[in-house]
Amino acid sequence: MSRIYNKVALIGLGLIAGSMAHAMRRHGLAGTITGYARSAETRAAARDIGLVDQVCDSSAEAVIDADLVVLAVPVGAMGAVAREIAPHLKPGCTLTDVGSVKQAVIEAVAPHLPNSVHFIPGHPLAGTEHSGPYSGFATLFENRWWLITPQPDADAEAVTKLRALCEGMGANVDEMDAAHHDLVLAVVSHTPHLIAYTMVGVADHLRRVSQSEVIKYSASGFRDFTRIAASDPTMWRDVFLTNKEATLDILGRFTEELFMLQRAIRMEDGEQLFDYFTRTRAIRRGIIEAGQDTDAPDFGRSKVT
Ligand code: NAP
Repeated sequence: MSRIYNKVALIGLGLIAGSMAHAMRRHGLAGTITGYARSAETRAAARDIGLVDQVCDSSAEAVIDADLVVLAVPVGAMGAVAREIAPHLKPGCTLTDVGSVKQAVIEAVAPHLPNSVHFIPGHPLAGTEHSGPYSGFATLFENRWWLITPQPDADAEAVTKLRALCEGMGANVDEMDAAHHDLVLAVVSHTPHLIAYTMVGVADHLRRVSQSEVIKYSASGFRDFTRIAASDPTMWRDVFLTNKEATLDILGRFTEELFMLQRAIRMEDGEQLFDYFTRTRAIRRGIIEAGQDTDAPDFGRSKVT
């Protein structure tokens, strides 16, 4: 794969930025990579492991002369970071972000940018429950979707280059409208996370089940909830605060379905439960056929308990 950008600046040096750095290096997609993170501790860690070519002590210094600037900070920090770097961006450069919510990021970032900058918002649908400068890895984006939400008047060449970068890191790219993105993500990611947080919270509050039993017997479905509920609190707080409408919409629908199933259990309506679970099983099959998960038992974990 050949070089796509001469200089890429990563603002934020956590899971997503770190994975981008590893993937861009592995595939030779960037000439130089600079980076900046808020805390001296993260910057020192990134320097220690040589995560990028140059770790800078200010965001302004990191973006100087960059052809691509990537905002890889929590959604709630995007606006402040954009304001900080705006006067230092090279005319004609592309600025993208990797935030999990798109409308709120656009509203927070766009007003700060000069017209000479191509702003193309994006979101890789890839992640783990880990965070920080040590958590990234080069294959994170392989065969995952990277959604970009350019405005209709976005510069076609800038969009093509950004698509090529994402594809170069192994992702499949789709374009969609930002509002649609936020609704889709509320269904496939944001509300499921909220439900996982809730289920783990319920277990935590249930004094009849001791802490040790929750841990000892968590080989069943609960374990997967705990993995999701271990995700970064800052990131997820910001996701719910900024994708409020769509999440509340999906949560309302979820609650209705839950009441319906609750009633079916109370009424001992086995047929309704069976039909419902048959339909949901088909959705799982569709995800496996689309290559978005493994059909290995227990999600391919080697040690089955
Ligand atoms: P992360 O591992 O927690 O890293 C966040 C980075 O942002 C850290 O280096 C942090 O620096 C830095 N940061 C925070 N506030 C900052 C500020 N005001 N100025 C400069 N740097 C700041 O998070 P992540 O998982 O990479 O997530 C980054 C973005 O990607 C988020 O917007 C998230 O919504 C999105 N995303 C995440 C996932 C996922 O599964 N994790 C998936 C797709 C998209 P310090 O360490 O110094 O605080």
